[in-house]
Formats: sequence, structure tokens, C-alpha cells
Amino acid sequence: MFAAKETIDGDGGWFIIMKRRETKYLIVGGGLAGTILARTMEKYGQDFIMVDKPGKSNSSRIAGGMFNPVLFRTLGKTWQADAIIPFAHVFYPEFAKALNQEIYFPRKLVRILNQQNKVDWAEAAKTNDFLDSEIKEYFQQDIVQQLHGSASINLAGNIDVKLMIESYQRDLKKQDRFWPGGIQYDDIEIQENSVTWKNIHAEKVIFCEGYLVEKNPWFNFTPMKPAKGDVIIIHAPLLKTDHIINRKVWIVPLGDDYYKVGATYRWDDRTETPRQDALDELITSLEEFLNVPYTILDHQAAIRPTVGDRRPLIGPHPEIENLMIFNGMGTKGVMLAPYFADHFLQYLTGKKEEIMERVDVRRFQRTWYKNKGG
Ligand SMILES: Cc1cc2nc3c(=O)[nH]c(=O)nc-3n(C[C@H](O)[C@H](O)[C@H](O)COP(=O)(O)OP(=O)(O)OC[C@H]3O[C@@H](n4cnc5c(N)ncnc54)[C@H](O)[C@@H]3O)c2cc1C
Repeated sequence: MFAAKETIDGDGGWFIIMKRRETKYLIVGGGLAGTILARTMEKYGQDFIMVDKPGKSNSSRIAGGMFNPVLFRTLGKTWQADAIIPFAHVFYPEFAKALNQEIYFPRKLVRILNQQNKVDWAEAAKTNDFLDSEIKEYFQQDIVQQLHGSASINLAGNIDVKLMIESYQRDLKKQDRFWPGGIQYDDIEIQENSVTWKNIHAEKVIFCEGYLVEKNPWFNFTPMKPAKGDVIIIHAPLLKTDHIINRKVWIVPLGDDYYKVGATYRWDDRTETPRQDALDELITSLEEFLNVPYTILDHQAAIRPTVGDRRPLIGPHPEIENLMIFNGMGTKGVMLAPYFADHFLQYLTGKKEEIMERVDVRRFQRTWYKNKGG
């Protein structure tokens, strides 16, 4: 017999578990990574249940949500841009349609140039087709200062990540595939060919807990270098733009004269509490180019799941094959996750024999064995 009501994590998350549930995959964590993985599983016809406790980590829920195929430091392409960007531009509109929500906003990303950038941009645009070679003034100078002009990036845009996650969880709940609550690692029982958590019996568990993977006893061998970031929401009625603007900070339009401005980086703070020094930094950088009045309405912070070598963490545990991970999306989850979720599903369904070495979590397996004393 099964308990009619069960406490999941002892801190308020409970739900009714009526009967034993069998599934193929139990996805732990419903941020951007878990959400996109689940959606991809759906496309591949795979059975899954997602468990998420919103609020344990909030990177996806406060992110700028941008996709930008250009590395501003070098003006080259970001890693795998030629593959991941076209993929994202198919994945998100399809997902938006399935959710019946406006989550996908392809738009110009306009970079404000300095004197050196201006020279470098023209040169780099000859070989990087994501750079629009035209340098001009995208804004009036009394609104956005661009003494050396500005230039735009092709195939950029942003996603409303929070809306995407929340709408999908609502849909999954209706299908009885979403369980709200936090998983405690001690409650997971590993059998030879399956894993049990409470009354859910899965062939495999896939962990997608963002930077909280640091607490996961099976995957804490991965070299997480979590990067805290702060953002603010502003109201700027005179700005009137649909473009993303980028200089030291970025501005993403949210509609109705609201904008998100971000983001800072802090490597030594594991709290999601907004910081005064980060707020000061955002305001100083914003006021270097924004010439119109604005009001700050909100200030949020969260932690990016960034890996030491800046590549995702995907695949099975080095020893326990039915425990897996899909994480490490770092600062670029919006671009990386759809392509690599598809790559992972090809592996899981036997269409691909190997996971790309650069993203395979087992590239760090030495640390697992070393920590074990092997
Ligand atoms: C300020 C800021 C700005 C950013 N801007 C961008 C951007 O413009 N473009 C971009 O591509 N990326 C951006 N990022 C990065 C992006 O947010 C991440 O790549 C991505 O959101 C990571 O998603 P995730 O699902 O791995 O992690 P998370 O968002 O942390 O999600 C993990 C989920 O798992 C849940 N969870 C954790 N442990 C448990 C447990 N034990 N039981 C149940 N649930 C659990 C958490 O509550 C959460 O819901 C930004 C990040 C920050 C902080």
C-alpha cells in the first residue's frame, strides 16, 4: 500500500502520491536545462516525469534570456554558433506554438562601439557572417550615446525563460508528469537497472539542478565555478526601442517600456541575495550610455551553473549508468540547451553511440575516482 499524502522535503512541498508510477526518465530540476530536456524527450516520444522545486535556484527565472552568436572580446563566433543558433531558431518558435505563449523574440542586438571596436568590427565582419558590417547610429544620441556608432548582430534575440518554464510546468502538471517538490538525495534508491524515488520508479534519473549540483553526492566531482549575477528591471518610457542594446551592460526590452538590465559577475558569493555593489555597478555602466530617465522597479540575483572549462555537462555517471546529468549551461543556456538536449536524446535513443567528448561529463571522471580513493 502507498501513503495517501507524503511530505517531499519537509519544507512545505507536499503532494498526494496515490500509486506507484513507472517511467523511463525522472528529471530532477525544471529550470531551463530540465525544461528543454523534457520538451525534447516529448518530441522523441520518451516517457518522463519532472520534479522541480522552484526557488531552490533561480538562474533561469531571472536570466536575460538572450542568444547572441558573437563573442564581443574577439568578435569571433561563440562555440558551435553555426550549429546551435539555427537550431535554436527552429526549437523556440515550435515550443512557443506548442505552449501557445509568446516566449520567442528574434530581434536586433545592437552593440555600442568604442573607437577601437569600430575598426575591429569592420575587419571582423568580413569573416564573421553574424556581424552586420554596417556601422551607424541606431539611436538618437540624446537617448543612447554612441560617439563611435553602433552595429548589429544577425540572428540574435531573446526568450522569456520564466514564462516558458512556468507554462510548460502547467502543461506537464495537467498530464500528470510534473511533481512539485524538492528531492533529497538520501531518498534516492539505486537498483541495478532502475532508480526509485518515493513511489516513482524510473529506468534513469537525469539531474538538472543548476549550480546546486555541487550538493549532489554523485556529480559533485564536476568542476562547477558558479557565477552569481545581478539584474535590475527598469521603466524607461523615453527609450522606445525593440532592440537589445549592449555595451558594458545589456538592456533587453520586456514590453510596455519595461526593460531588464544586466548583468554582473561575482565568483565568491553562493547566495541569491541581491548585492548593493552589483546594483551600483549596473547603474554606473548603464548611465555611461543611457541618456533618458528611468526608474528601478526590481533588483534580482541568481547563480549561473558555469563549469571550469565553460562547456556543458552531459551524460551518464562514470560508474552508475542509470544516473545522468544535463547541466553546466553556464552563461549561454538559451543557445546551448536545445541543440545539446537533442544531441543527448540521440544518444539515449541509440541514434548516436557517443556523447560529444567536449560535453561528456565523463571528461572529469578522474576526479570521481580520485575522490573515491581509487
Ligand atoms: C543574471 C543572469 C543573467 C543571465 N542571462 C543569460 C542570457 O541572457 N542568456 C543565456 O543563455 N543565459 C543567461 N544566464 C544563464 C542561464 O540562466 C543559465 O544557463 C540557465 O538558466 C541554467 O539553467 P539550469 O536549469 O541549469 O539551472 P537553474 O535555473 O538553476 O535551474 C535548476 C532548477 O532545479 C531546481 N532544483 C535544484 N535542486 C533541486 C532538487 N534537489 N529538487 C528539486 N528541484 C531542484 C531549482 O529550483 C531550479 O528550478 C543568465 C544567468 C544569470 C544569473
